[in-house]
Parts: sequence; C-alpha cells; structure tokens
Amino acid sequence: GVPIFLHLVFYRAAASPPSSNFLLLGPSGAGKTAFTTLLESKSAPATKKLHSTHTSQTSTLITVTLPPTVPTASNRYRSVNDPSLKEASKNPVQYRLRDTPGHGKLRASQGIAELQAMATSTDTKTKLRGVIFMVDTAALVDETILRDTATYLHDVLLVLQQRALGKGKSSTKRAAEIPVLVAANKQDLFTALPPGSVREKLEAEIDRIRKSKTKGLMDASMDSAALDAEEEDVLGDDDAQGVFGFKLLEQVGIKVDVTGGAVKGDQQEEFGSGVRRWEEWVGMCL
Ligand code: GDP
Repeated sequence: GVPIFLHLVFYRAAASPPSSNFLLLGPSGAGKTAFTTLLESKSAPATKKLHSTHTSQTSTLITVTLPPTVPTASNRYRSVNDPSLKEASKNPVQYRLRDTPGHGKLRASQGIAELQAMATSTDTKTKLRGVIFMVDTAALVDETILRDTATYLHDVLLVLQQRALGKGKSSTKRAAEIPVLVAANKQDLFTALPPGSVREKLEAEIDRIRKSKTKGLMDASMDSAALDAEEEDVLGDDDAQGVFGFKLLEQVGIKVDVTGGAVKGDQQEEFGSGVRRWEEWVGMCL
C-alpha cells in the first residue's frame, strides 16, 4: 500500500490545529532541548525539513503529534487491535509544546513569566493544559543543583497555587487545574536517582525553602499586610509546620506526578521506556 508517512503527511494537513498547550520548564542542562528535538523529529512528516537548530537562548513553540498508540483521556481504553486505532492514525492528536530558555540567571524569571502569561490566558489558543518540569536525575546529588532545581520548581508551583486560589480575581469560578509532570530525565545513567528518590529529595528541599520563606515573612510581619501576604505566598497549607509533600497541592487541585524517563534512551526500551510515560501523561491531559 501507500507508505505510512504519506498517510501522515496527508492527514496532518487535514487535521485541525492543535489547541492544547504545554510548557516545558526546568533548569539548564536537564534535557529540554534534547526532548523538544526528539519530539519534533518523531512527529515531523518525512517531507518536512527539521529545523533542529535549537539554541537554549530563545523560546520555541513546536507542534507535536502524539504517537497513535498513546491513549488519550477521551480514548483511554484503546487497544492495539481496536479498529478505532486506525481512525486515530488518520486523525492524529496534536499538541503544542513551548520550550523556555535554560541559560543564565534570567532563565527562572523567563520561564516563570511565560508560565504566568500562559496560566492566566483566557484565550483558548494559548491556554495552558499542563506543565512539564524537566530534571536531570543524575545531577540532583549535587546540593547546589538540588537547591537550584527545587527553588525553580517551588516558584512554578507557587504561581499555579496562586492561580488556583484565584488570587486577584473576583470570579467565583475556580480556574481549571493545570497538572505538573516532573520528568525525571536521564534514567539511562547509572548514577541517576530513581523517580521515588527524586520526589523525596525535591519535596524535602521545597520544605526547607518554604520554611525559611515563612520565617522571613514572620520576622518582617509586624503589620497585618505582611501577614496577609504570608498566607498566599506559602506553598501548600498555610501553616508551614507540617512537612511539605506534593500531595498537599491536591487540596487546591494541582496534581504533581514524578515520572522517570530518558530522552537519550527513547530508541532503547530498557531505559525507563524512553519518553513514552511522559507522552502517556500528555495523552491523559488531552
Ligand atoms: P537543556 O539545557 O535543558 O535544554 O538541556 P539539553 O537538552 O541541552 O541537554 C543537556 C545535556 O544532557 C546534553 O548534553 C544532552 O545530550 C544530555 N541529555 C539529555 N537527555 C539525556 C538523557 O536522557 N540521558 C543522557 N545520558 N543525557 C541526556
């Protein structure tokens, strides 16, 4: 018959433009550029030339095709033998992924600014569906990198919490939740921490960050304005006495998943199934 890529080219043109946006965040060196390049090459029709000249200096927006074997929330019981799978490959599910610059001191503020803009957008074309926060799991043993990574993630979660609590809005309607995937990358390296430890380390470090933040606020809070600020600016429950865990954020509707994978190992199944589980997470958001 007709080569499969011709089908893809044809149906790609016929498909409606993707309307789901995801934001890719994380510290420099985590593998964001490698991930976007991989997704782009996996989704590019054979005829389309790749612009694989990503630099980490600019924010890029790519359109990605979800592999047809990855289930989506609306079609989660699809099996390989399911005839609807054929339908799915005729009408591929696409989404948009925005990669943010990972370099220099500005990276957190650029990523955070992008997050704020997308998270508060009411335009369906730019509305944010989910955040992928990428982490180098072989680098987290380094205290400085752990602290830097946790600080960035803390700030990301705080933006989402403030959004979920409807800060500055009179609207009674709660904003639709924006889930977070902590993509525990580089599981192919033997020095990599397993996802469970990555989760524990990040939670413990975020706990330290929020406790020192609360203490700072308390020291400065002789006036009531500062006390008001305190409640909104602390991640998780408002008394930071308990230990922080991502579960705390479920109270405000923010779900955080920590899932292992490897951009490098995507062609070799043994390395945490490559990026497959992240694609499945995306699928469940669609
Ligand atoms: P960014 O700063 O987040 O965009 O990170 P890059 O995509 O530039 O990746 C930083 C380095 O990590 C590069 O040398 C990549 O080749 C490498 N890298 C990315 N993903 C993986 C992975 O899954 N395994 C291994 N071993 N290296 C990876």
